[in-house]
Amino acid sequence: MQALPHHESPQLLLSFDFDGTLHDPAGNPPVAPAFFQAIQWLRATRGALWGINTGRSMEHLVQGLIESRFTFLPDFAVVREREIFLPNNVGRFVPVRQWNDQCEADLQKLLKKSKKLLKKIRDEVEEHTGAQWIEQTGEPAGIISRTDDEMNWIVKRIFELTSSATELGWQRNSIYLRFGHKNYQKGSSLCEVARMVGMPTENIFAMGDSHNDMEMLDADVAKFIACPANSVPEIKAHVVLQGGYVSDQNYSMGVFEALGHFFHEPSPTA
Ligand SMILES: [Mg+2]
Repeated sequence: MQALPHHESPQLLLSFDFDGTLHDPAGNPPVAPAFFQAIQWLRATRGALWGINTGRSMEHLVQGLIESRFTFLPDFAVVREREIFLPNNVGRFVPVRQWNDQCEADLQKLLKKSKKLLKKIRDEVEEHTGAQWIEQTGEPAGIISRTDDEMNWIVKRIFELTSSATELGWQRNSIYLRFGHKNYQKGSSLCEVARMVGMPTENIFAMGDSHNDMEMLDADVAKFIACPANSVPEIKAHVVLQGGYVSDQNYSMGVFEALGHFFHEPSPTA
């Protein structure tokens, strides 16, 4: 996998969630070839930069790119919804130190401050549900529930318990939840990438399918907003409210459809 040639003056910035948006675990291949064609076409005709904005860790994302047979690398990657990486000229992802270090420092400070509150949430979750509490390197506080309904209950309870905490946020993706700093999520990460490449909101596209995409699917972050047909109902409703586009098709064909809707991509040949 190689990085695409460097763009001197990019005109468009495209941000895609990975799981459930580009990647269909049951698909063969998991990402439709039409998507890659659309990216190359938009790059050539619209000066588009493209990236993946995911809750996966970098290691897990690289695995996903290989499994999905990506032939070229994204121009940027946001992992764990908050850390930014750019590929170098030999195709290796390099962290954006200034942003990532600040993010880590702010997060650690907040987790320290929120220790009591997190303990209270953990006790409630362990007392009332069968969900698992996660605490490990790189993943300081998170929850994995057994079902979506169980996570619905947990999220409702977290809302109630954190009503007075201004900085503690969380990102949910189906049965997974990760605590974090409200200032660092897919929306603020995409804004930082946009700032780095000098891209105004009017030239930004974002697409995702689940709760952790909420902040980037926002008219203040991206002018062009979309979600695939397989998105969770809350995201579909949110995208409609933001004046965005809900594709009729699922996963990467839904992405292809949305790109066509906004940027008039021709019919797929594959
Ligand atoms: Mg997703």
